[in-house]
Amino acid sequence: MHEMSLTEGILRILETEAERQRFSTVKTVWLDLGVLSHAEPEAMAFCFDAVMKGTLAEGARLEIIRTPGAGWCMACAREIAVGSRFDPCPACGGFQIQITDGEQMRVRELEVA
Ligand SMILES: [Zn+2]
Repeated sequence: MHEMSLTEGILRILETEAERQRFSTVKTVWLDLGVLSHAEPEAMAFCFDAVMKGTLAEGARLEIIRTPGAGWCMACAREIAVGSRFDPCPACGGFQIQITDGEQMRVRELEVA
């Protein structure tokens, strides 16, 4: 499952931060998840619980923040909001859209102890 490897990546970030900032327990993770990313929030939550078992983030809460998508319409030559990968340009109805934002996943904030 794709989300499983993403969640393992989050664990590595947590472990690195724990060493750097000298904390031993993670209580909450706020995660930015772009609406155009391929990860499903429900699957992320499921994998998070499984992967964090027996680690510094066992039982931690995962708060997922959906960040909006954006793209560049090549026909209009301007930036547009993109709600889904298959949406046409809201201005011209075209599909020559280059995604510029909304695909990323990033740990925004941690609550630690
Ligand atoms: Zn357009």
